[in-house]
This record gives sequence, structure tokens and C-alpha cells, in this order.
Amino acid sequence: DTGKDDGTFSKPKTTFKDVAGLDEVKEELFELVDFIKNPEKYKKMGATIPKGVLFNGPPGTGKTLLAASVAGETNSAFFNTTGSEFVEKYVGVGAKRVRTLFEKARKESPSIIFIDEIDAIGAKRHLESNNEKDQTLNQLLVEMDGFNKDSNVIIIGATNRLDLLDEALLRPGRFDRHIYIGNPNCYTRHEILKVHTKNKPLEESVNLEELAKKTHGLSGAHLSNIANEAAIMAVRENKSTINKQHFDDAIERILAGLESKNSKLV
Ligand code: ATP
Repeated sequence: DTGKDDGTFSKPKTTFKDVAGLDEVKEELFELVDFIKNPEKYKKMGATIPKGVLFNGPPGTGKTLLAASVAGETNSAFFNTTGSEFVEKYVGVGAKRVRTLFEKARKESPSIIFIDEIDAIGAKRHLESNNEKDQTLNQLLVEMDGFNKDSNVIIIGATNRLDLLDEALLRPGRFDRHIYIGNPNCYTRHEILKVHTKNKPLEESVNLEELAKKTHGLSGAHLSNIANEAAIMAVRENKSTINKQHFDDAIERILAGLESKNSKLV
């Protein structure tokens, strides 16, 4: 359950253990987890708890997974939203959705509001215009500023177009922490493959380290697809285990898909 409607939420069981690699990112997020779990400790020291964290980087690199695991680590309510679902034809509807979302999150706190593709609402505003998009963004800014210090609601935004965002969103007290999450390196690809083959019967011929070397440039989402495709191929052939050939075919399939996508762009 990812809770896509405004006001619906889940209590994810996902934790940092489910996120392979990304050790530095997790370390940084550990502090956020501690803020949420022990707000008193920080308040006593006169420190302000951050309200917003921005994940920046290409698609499929685990941004949603990380946000859900911050919620899982802290037993927070997880509001999983996408910027585009706030963008409406009618003026005022998006703003109202934002208001409802924050009201609910405060009520259920501790809460994590995740806004994927935040650039859909957070793109630079136009001077003197007051269209639906601008109103939605203004409402988001109002909500972030208006947080009660004790509300214990954290917003995590994700984008792969940091350059498009309105500077107002990036000011201190709003999304003032940025974390870059790039495509995984060879070590991390190996770790991701381990996570996604944990419950799969692999033949000894399958060497995950070798597969990691062969999959340069692919994201965690691609690797998870490859592991799944390989399993489906094994089932199709009525095998009881997944072998090297299944993985090689799955990789070829994913790479061919990417190539045809790229050639369409040219
Ligand atoms: P998008 O920007 O397209 O929404 P995202 O960065 O939010 O992508 P996720 O949805 O978190 O990416 O990742 C997609 C899937 O890829 C995850 O559900 C998971 O199966 C797998 N995945 C990605 N990164 C990792 C990782 N570091 N460890 C384990 N699985 C991963």
C-alpha cells in the first residue's frame, strides 16, 4: 500500500536494511531518524529540527525506498505523493489538496510526507502570475513555514531537476538539506543484486559480482527488474532454479529496451 490519494498513508515496514549500499546517504538520514525519535534531545540544546530534505538524482535510484525506510525506522505515518497529483485544472484545488495533506500528517504525526517529482509543483514561479501551479506552490511554502515546532512532520521531496525548482523552496527552514543519489557503482550494484535475489533459488553458475560488473549505468530499479525477469524466465522453462543464462537474457532484454528508448530520442 503506497497511499496515493491525498490524506491516505501507510506504516511501512521497510527499513534501511532493505536499501542496499548508499551508506553515506543512510548515515545522513540516521540523524534525521534520531531527530524524529528524540525531538526533546535537540530542543533542549536549542537546535531546530529540519523540516525538509530534498533527494536529487536520476530515476529508479531508491529515493522512494529511502523515504519509506525513514518512515519504517521511526514508525511514522508515510504519505506517499507525487507532485503531479496536486496539479489541477481548477484554481485552488491543488492548494486545497496540499492543505488537507498537511492537516492529516500533523494529526498522524510523527509523519513523513514524501513528494516525488516535486518539480511538478515546485518549478520557478512567474512574476505577477497567480495561476493554479503558483497557488499550489505558495500553499506548500505556507505549510512548511507554518509548522508548529512540535508537529514532528518531515517532508522529503524528490526531483531529478533541481535546476527547475523555485529558490523559495530551497531557503533555510524549507528544503535546506539536499542529498544527491546517483546511479549505483559496481559495489552497490552487487549489494542491490544480493537484496533482490535473497529469496530466489539461484544456481551456482550465477555470479552476482560478475553481473554487477556487466550492468554499468543501470539503476537499482533496473537491477530489481533484471532479477525478476530472470526468475520469470526460469519459471517459463519449468526450471526449479535460476541460472546464469536466465540472468544474461534478462540483462540483454533490459539493455535492448534502453537502447530502443534512446534511439527514439535521437
Ligand atoms: P523514481 O524517481 O523513478 O520514483 P526512485 O529513485 O524513487 O525512482 P525507487 O522507486 O525507490 O526509486 O526504486 C525503484 C525500485 O528499485 C525499488 O522499489 C527497489 O526495488 C529498487 N532499488 C533501487 N535502489 C535500490 C537500493 N539501493 N537497494 C535496493 N533496492 C533498490
